[in-house]
Amino acid sequence: MKQESVLVVGSIAFDDLEMPHGTYEGVLGGAATYSALAASVLGPVQIVGVVGDDFPDAHLDLLRSRKVDTTGVERVTGKTFRWRGRYSEDLASRTTLDTQLNVFANFRPKIPESYRKTPYVLLGNIHPALQLEVVDQIEHPRFVAADTMNFWISGEPVTLAALLKKVDLLIINDEEARELTGIQNLCKAAADIRRRGPTQLIVKRGEHGALLFDPHGTFFVPAYPLEEVNDPTGAGDSFAGGLMGYLARNHSAAGSPHTMRRAMFYAAAMGSFCVEKVGPARIEELTLQQLGRRLDDFRALVDFGGTLTLSAAEA
Ligand code: AMP
Repeated sequence: MKQESVLVVGSIAFDDLEMPHGTYEGVLGGAATYSALAASVLGPVQIVGVVGDDFPDAHLDLLRSRKVDTTGVERVTGKTFRWRGRYSEDLASRTTLDTQLNVFANFRPKIPESYRKTPYVLLGNIHPALQLEVVDQIEHPRFVAADTMNFWISGEPVTLAALLKKVDLLIINDEEARELTGIQNLCKAAADIRRRGPTQLIVKRGEHGALLFDPHGTFFVPAYPLEEVNDPTGAGDSFAGGLMGYLARNHSAAGSPHTMRRAMFYAAAMGSFCVEKVGPARIEELTLQQLGRRLDDFRALVDFGGTLTLSAAEA
């Protein structure tokens, strides 16, 4: 059977990363880069983004070598988007030191003709008006997922509300869910968000895992505990890429109660690989076999070998 594709739209960047173990300048980054590389472990991917004339061909060659179609990467005169962040000693938090939009400032995603029928669409964190433009350019998408951030939640609430009506799944972190709704309790915040459009919501909680809220209830996937964490940059984007890659590979719009729950494990596994090396290096080299082994380890992590039901005598 032909493998379905995932379309990814978002930033392609150079990242300057100040980590406790050293500073890394000009690392390949961007939300779309991480998501595309992660999804491509599971099947074909199409990427839409913009780079400047300083962006090495080698990076595009790398994407292509990983089954990522780069027809939708526009190269324009100027500098590529650049982001600089500093991580805390425990890597649990980070501060943005500098964001240079450069060619990204005038980005208007143009969906190539060959991408227009792509069934699975992942809208990375860009202006919600641009996310809407992308949805409008795709013919009958089967499943649309979107990411956003505090900047758009506070700055573009009306456009973001219009976008929410057009997406099946919103993927955000706990802070963003609280800011979007003004509700502290995550379960109540999730119910509020799901009334605004997306039938499904994922709330990411970094090293504390992720929650799925959908018509079948609430589901939790932990973050895989690792001894070696080197760089959390892009973990959320890799999570989203892994999730969409799984759905496309299984030709599923998450209709059955368990599809999305399984997809959550693929997503979390991909996030866990991402943090092992600086930049997308680990995702770039990841094989399906290695992913399979991590999924087995995940199963062992949450398998308690029985049921949680009280016996008749105890109940
Ligand atoms: P994550 O760690 O999953 O939040 O993703 C980090 C990636 O997002 C980095 O590679 C950055 O290049 C990219 N990024 C940072 N700020 C922005 C922004 N304002 N818009 C789009 N992408 C960004």
